[in-house]
Amino acid sequence: MQEQLNSKPQFLLHVCCGTCSLYPYFLLKKDFNITFFYYNPNIYPEEEYLKRLDDVRTISKIYSIPLITGKYEVKEWLNLTSGFKNEPEGGKRCDICFNMRLKKTAAVAKKHRFDIFGTTLTISPHKNQKIINSLGARIAASIKIDFYYTDFKKKDGFKKTMELSKKLNLYRQDYCGCIYSMR
Ligand code: SF4
Repeated sequence: MQEQLNSKPQFLLHVCCGTCSLYPYFLLKKDFNITFFYYNPNIYPEEEYLKRLDDVRTISKIYSIPLITGKYEVKEWLNLTSGFKNEPEGGKRCDICFNMRLKKTAAVAKKHRFDIFGTTLTISPHKNQKIINSLGARIAASIKIDFYYTDFKKKDGFKKTMELSKKLNLYRQDYCGCIYSMR
């Protein structure tokens, strides 16, 4: 609560799971008041979605980080991506998946009058930060809100977040999240 009273900008941070949220949170909290936004309708099955959400809730409680949880709009996600089920990870399906999650984050940030939004997605060594940042910037410009460019995997970001996750004994998944990435 104390943090909410200071003059730092309000940042809505899209988080894909607990593990990936840790290092970005510690990096950004110096300059921003962070609120987590868990919106990941890509994750399959629902048990997996809830498992990742559980960890995000745990972190939110431990560090007193406000958390907004989006809807599990799995049908909408499948409608957008099913035509690209055979794409490799990192292909067109992933761009659509990033875009959907960033678009919702931007809309929620705008609605709740956040100053800026961003995502933890760039911490993954398997994800292209150039694509994520360019989608985020385009969405931000279209609704007139600021987007925060990141490449969290830089400076050993992924390794650092894994170490933080181990200390809290969090769940660490072995696939990106969607039904197609389980294969
Ligand atoms: S592989 Fe990951 S980023 Fe790509 S579509 Fe599936 S969940 Fe989304």
